[in-house]
Amino acid sequence: MLQLYKEPFIQEIEDQLFKDKGLRVYIKREDQIHPTVSGNKWRKLKYNLHEAKTQGHDTLLTFGGAYSNHIYATAAAAHEAGFKSIGIIRGEELEDKPLNKTLSFATEQGMQLAFADRETYRQKSESNFIKTLEEEYGKFYLLPEGGTNNLAIKGCEEILSDNDKQYDIVCCAVGTGGTISGIIAASLPDQHVLGFSALKGDFLKSEVQRLLENYSAKKFKNWSINTDYHFGGYAKTNHELLDFITDFEQRHHVPLDQVYTGKMMFGIYDLISKNRFRSGAKILLIHTGGLQGALNSGIKY
Ligand SMILES: *Cc1c(COP(=O)(O)O)cnc(C)c1O
Repeated sequence: MLQLYKEPFIQEIEDQLFKDKGLRVYIKREDQIHPTVSGNKWRKLKYNLHEAKTQGHDTLLTFGGAYSNHIYATAAAAHEAGFKSIGIIRGEELEDKPLNKTLSFATEQGMQLAFADRETYRQKSESNFIKTLEEEYGKFYLLPEGGTNNLAIKGCEEILSDNDKQYDIVCCAVGTGGTISGIIAASLPDQHVLGFSALKGDFLKSEVQRLLENYSAKKFKNWSINTDYHFGGYAKTNHELLDFITDFEQRHHVPLDQVYTGKMMFGIYDLISKNRFRSGAKILLIHTGGLQGALNSGIKY
C-alpha cells in the first residue's frame, strides 16, 4: 500500500575522533527509503494504513505543528495510498497567513487543514474532542500527534534487520518515543539502545516504558535516553548546533535536520569525545529522516 522506494543502506562515518577512540560508527539511511514519507514516519504509518483500510476507512485525521514531519508524511502517504486526509494544525494565527512550505505541500497532497488555537489543540487525545471532530468531518481513522501507537511501534521494529545484530550500540533521536520503542523491541539483550531526546524534560523514560508494556513477555533493560542535547527544547537551536550540522554535512555528505538527527549526532560526538563508549564498540546511528523540516523552516546553516 505504502511503497518502499529504496532499501535503507548503511554507511560508515569515518572520522579521526572515532579512530582515536577505537570506535566504528555507522549510519543507517532510513531517510532514503521514500522521497516524501521519509524515515521513521514511513515505518510508523505502514501498519496504520493497512489497519485503516481493513477497518474500511477512507479518511485519515491527525495533528501536528506547522513544520511537522508527521503532517508532511501523513499527507503524502494518504495521497499515495488513496486516502483523504485531514490535518489539525496547532496555531490559529496561521489561518490568515500564507502557508509555509510544509503545509502547502500537505495541501498539494490533498490534505484538508484546520487550524486550532493552543487550548483546543491540547485536547487532541480527549474523546470528547475527537467526537466533535467526527461530527464535523465524519468518520476517520485517527493517527495521534507524532503518529505513535502500537502499530507504529510494530512498524519501527522493522528499522532493525537481522544484519544489524552485529552492532553493540544503536542510537536514534526521540520525540514521542514510538521509534525507539520499536527499536528496543527488535534489539538483542546484549545490544544497547541509546536515545537522544529532542525535548526538554525527563518524562520520556516512563513514556517509553509505558509504550513497551505490550511486550510484557520480554523485560527490556538494554536501553537509556540521554536528555543532555535538547538545546533548550523541542525545535530550539543555537549557532553551535547549526555550525556543527553544516560542518558534519560538508565532511561526511550526510544531511541532518536541526530538530532531531542533528541533536543526536551532536550528542554522539560529544559523548565519544568524553570517552563514554568502550573502545572497540560498533555504533549504529539511525537516520530517521526529517529533512523536509530542515529545508522548509528557512533556517540557514
Ligand atoms: C518524528 C521524528 C522523530 C521522533 O520519532 P518518535 O517516534 O516520535 O520518537 C525522530 N526523528 C525524525 C527525523 C522525526 O521526524
